[in-house]
Amino acid sequence: MTAILPGSTIGVLGSGQLGRMFAIAARRMGYRVHTLSPETDTPTGQVADVEITAEYDDLDAIRKLANSVDVLTFEFENVPAATAAAAAELRPVRPSGAILEITQNRLREKAFLQAKGFPVTPFVHIRDIEHLRDGIREFGEGVLKSCNWGYDGKGQIGIDSSSIVEDIWARLGATDAVLEKFVPFDNEISIIVSRGLNGAMNNFEVTRNHHTDKILDYSVTPAPVSETVRARAIEIALATAEELGLVGVLCIEMFVTSFDDILVNELAPRPHNSGHWTFDACVTSQFEQQLRAVCGLPLGSTAQLRPAAMGNLLGDLWAHGEPRWDAALRVPDVKLHLYGKATPRQGRKMGHLTAMADDADRALSLVWQARDALRGE
Ligand code: AMP
Repeated sequence: MTAILPGSTIGVLGSGQLGRMFAIAARRMGYRVHTLSPETDTPTGQVADVEITAEYDDLDAIRKLANSVDVLTFEFENVPAATAAAAAELRPVRPSGAILEITQNRLREKAFLQAKGFPVTPFVHIRDIEHLRDGIREFGEGVLKSCNWGYDGKGQIGIDSSSIVEDIWARLGATDAVLEKFVPFDNEISIIVSRGLNGAMNNFEVTRNHHTDKILDYSVTPAPVSETVRARAIEIALATAEELGLVGVLCIEMFVTSFDDILVNELAPRPHNSGHWTFDACVTSQFEQQLRAVCGLPLGSTAQLRPAAMGNLLGDLWAHGEPRWDAALRVPDVKLHLYGKATPRQGRKMGHLTAMADDADRALSLVWQARDALRGE
């Protein structure tokens, strides 16, 4: 197993902020980066050596990309299986297309987790309106999620016993879906684990996440959970990476109930929004770790330098004009990250703030302070 050393070129499928921060980490270590996506002037493309504009199912473009790089990875898991397969004929694809196939479909992901004995939110597969009727009767309150293309709450419908089944079915558009039981969780947490080519693994500190309108609003770390929950969550996350045969990084989002039960909500075989704090607050960031793993290099230390908090900056912040960057930067322990996106839209992730302090609550209050300052408050 020869390592892919600095000076080599990494191909990234996808071109958003995750690829951008990956490319920054890769360039810092002397690698070159080629990115491919259907868009131009992308967050990743702006900092990559080469930006290729092509559809993900354009196999000629994929082969051309593969031939120009030493290894391929991705920042976006909804890449078609045929694309990963075509690339893998020419160069290593890490993590593998088989992992993409599991994690890009909610049903396959849940079935995989269940088969391996991991605790998942109770769910039923919805294929027709009768399944939906039965599921609502069984769960009372639930969340209907389309099997494909789910992120940031897209393709999700909240359901309770007053929901009109015919309306919900029409809204779903009759696509394949899962109905999950509503979990009245105390905390949402996530963990990012890394697994190298030689099977070595490590994990970043557990993070508590808060979503607003189903989009991540802020994260704090270390998460305020019991040592038992922390240890069990890490154990589940590492075992999942091992079972998947992952080479790269994997984010596992979980719900923690008031009884300290843990239920796995979602997997993402790539760096994750809830791990952005690692860029500033860890010896090695999740992005550098992805680079090290896919290049067959030793994993870096995930030691956290200080308690940290991260707050997302959504397009909504631009509603009354350009945010007050200068005012936010007057909070000296806050770091500003912007993704180079030209058009702010409601709910669009434009950037984030990270703060470090002596404890996570204090770090979060610094993030609030800077975010309020951006709005001129
Ligand atoms: P997801 O796209 O599955 O991560 O869902 C987005 C957010 O919706 C989650 O982070 C939770 O805050 C909420 N959510 C999703 N599924 C459930 C559930 N079964 N019970 C309660 N809240 C949920």
